[in-house]
Amino acid sequence: MGSIRLKTKIPGPVSTDLQRRRSQAIPSGFNQLSPLFVARAEGALLEDVDGNILIDLAGGIGCLNSGHRPAAVISAIQAQAQLFLHTCAHVTLYDCYIELAEILNRITPGSFAKKTFFVNSGAEAVENAVKIVRASTKRPAIICFQDAFHGRTAMGMALTSKPHPYKAGFEPLPGHIYRIPYAYCYRCSYGKSYPQCQLYCGSDAILDTFQRVVPAEEVGAVIVEPVQGEGGFIVPPPGFLPALKAVCEKYGILLIADEVQTGFGRTGRMFACEHFGIEPDILITAKSLGGGLPLGAITGRAELMDAPDIGALGTTFGGNPLSCVAALASLKTIETENLCRRAEALGLEFEYRALMWQKRWPIIGNVRRLGAMCALELVRPTPERTPADVETKEILNFCHTHGVVAISAGSFGNVIRLLMPLVITDAQLNEALDVLEEGIASVTGAEEITAKSRT
Ligand SMILES: *Cc1c(COP(=O)(O)O)cnc(C)c1O
Repeated sequence: MGSIRLKTKIPGPVSTDLQRRRSQAIPSGFNQLSPLFVARAEGALLEDVDGNILIDLAGGIGCLNSGHRPAAVISAIQAQAQLFLHTCAHVTLYDCYIELAEILNRITPGSFAKKTFFVNSGAEAVENAVKIVRASTKRPAIICFQDAFHGRTAMGMALTSKPHPYKAGFEPLPGHIYRIPYAYCYRCSYGKSYPQCQLYCGSDAILDTFQRVVPAEEVGAVIVEPVQGEGGFIVPPPGFLPALKAVCEKYGILLIADEVQTGFGRTGRMFACEHFGIEPDILITAKSLGGGLPLGAITGRAELMDAPDIGALGTTFGGNPLSCVAALASLKTIETENLCRRAEALGLEFEYRALMWQKRWPIIGNVRRLGAMCALELVRPTPERTPADVETKEILNFCHTHGVVAISAGSFGNVIRLLMPLVITDAQLNEALDVLEEGIASVTGAEEITAKSRT
């Protein structure tokens, strides 16, 4: 398969025209992460409206683990389109919905009986997980984390950490939400260091919160991303989630794992929770679930899922048949193409290159990854670890104009995150990393760590 091919400068003339129309027709608050307008896509490649071919390291923000337009997904959608498009799952249900629920009940962590239902998005999955927690525990409060992202609906915003641009100006938000620091070791909120900290953030910090902020008996659930996504691809130490789960169990609190971004092979396992050996009571998914179509799911212990009254859970389009057949085909693709194993190989390649960059350039503050959920946190040296947000934007801009689509993350806007389709070839990944490397060199070349300055 080919790779980067630039026919015009980026943005080209057709993109420039669309950009003008975009600004007229679409609100400026609707964020734009690249200057590109797409015409078609395949595997890990995008072709823009000016005929330029780019390598995609954003994967529609982690929605394309099985690639752009996997053959099996396309034929499943085409076959379903010949039958019916919508009946509403509440009115007349269909086989593919039930089959997908059965599969998620089986493959998500936890050997207990589970049930699943489908919604349209990650945020909607978050909303429903909280409804189920409150209906089943009769406890109002939810504990969440700093740097968390859980979507843009009212409850999603309330659980999300970063005020600008996600929440500021949109208050009042739902109450009974309490926030504690995550295991962000590179910037520990407690000023501790791992492992001497004995995972204070995952255990004692929560007990302290029960004592000083909200009593344990009012807390229905803790919601956590097993690896934080928008917050900056923060990978916690191995003991963090087990410690958290132990505290939850001790106090009768449910654990919701938000695997919207980490799910479906991204981290080298089907679900990130598997790396940490925890079984959440409720696990929510979306993004890569639908193989490119919109779909979210709430999977949980059967007795919890049955707690809301009949009719208390619902959605008009959720679990649309096209999305369900696409999800079934995408899951099959992840399995038959061994994409979990592939994710680890891609992550290793990234890490090998990124650790060399870190030796060369002081701007590379922290290299993080779990499987192919890969990130660089960029910093300036004075004062130590100052977020290099401007440079992050410059590097991403360099990537876009040189044929690579990549996006940032992080509460400080200084993390470059990679969410490439897991079907990307070695040659494509290396070519994309070459561009990223040139981008880093172009903004920091003068500050290269020379052999002399290092000694
Ligand atoms: C993207 C994301 C969401 C929200 O998903 P939408 O489909 O955009 O509503 C929720 N949680 C996490 C962890 C996410 O990454």
